[in-house]
Parts: sequence; C-alpha cells; structure tokens
Amino acid sequence: MDFIERTIEVAMENVKEGGRPFACLIVKDGKVLVEAANQVAQSHDPTAHAEILAIQKGSQLLKSEHFEGCEFYILAHPCPMCLAAMYYCSPKRVIFITTREEYSEYYVDHRKYFTLQNFYEEICMPWKQRALPMVHNPNPRAIDVYKLWKEVNES
Ligand SMILES: [Zn+2]
Repeated sequence: MDFIERTIEVAMENVKEGGRPFACLIVKDGKVLVEAANQVAQSHDPTAHAEILAIQKGSQLLKSEHFEGCEFYILAHPCPMCLAAMYYCSPKRVIFITTREEYSEYYVDHRKYFTLQNFYEEICMPWKQRALPMVHNPNPRAIDVYKLWKEVNES
C-alpha cells in the first residue's frame, strides 16, 4: 500500500463527508495500525485532530504510550498540539505531505488567540506575553501532590 496515497484518500473522504481536510495513518512494520481523519466538524471536539485520534486508538492497540518503530503519515505539517502529542509518543519518524504555507491559501483556522501563521511563535512566548491570558496562582499545598506521587512510586 502507498501510505501517502492512502493518507490523501482518507482526508478526501472526510471532506466529502463534511469533515476537515486532515488525516493521519500510523504505520508499524510496513502495515497500517490506525487510520484517522479530523473529526472536529463532526464531533465539535476542538482536540479531535487526526493525529490525536490516531494516537488514542494506537495506544489502545499497542497497549503502550511509547510508539516504538511507528511512523506517522499526516496530510499537513502538524499544529503545535499534535506535534507535542507526537513528541510524547516518540515514534520512529513523521512524514507530512503538505507544508502549512502550501495549504494556507485554501484553509483558514484562525482562533481567538492565534492564526495559522503565528501559532508556533505564540506558544513559544513567555507565559505572561501570550495572547491566551494565564495567571500563576501559587499554593504551598500543591507540592504535596508531587511528594505523594514520589512516595507512592518509590516503594
Ligand atoms: Zn493538530
């Protein structure tokens, strides 16, 4: 199977069904482990990106949070959320088919606090400078949670 062609096909089918133009395949040992298409339009879940859904299904199939030997095929260069999610599962590599520059002429995903063009820049800002208002509200009891975790996990 041509994984690039299949990724395009899954995304194309999703658009025909009213979905957004994104798809993800996870391939392991030369076989497709998971196929997923963006489900944000269908589910109203803003985190239902193809990569996130593929990781959720994949982790159940692999029974692991470590995607050793897996390759991600994705239609577009990932958003920061999906990129971070892929960092968390440590695949062998990520193959993307279009750059953000290539598809930005046809697809707009601007939100209150970012645009497709400035999203990576935005999340790299020190928290006080981000467009998303954030407040650091310290409480000395919070560290007890970590102390307990260490205690529970060190025995
Ligand atoms: Zn994403």
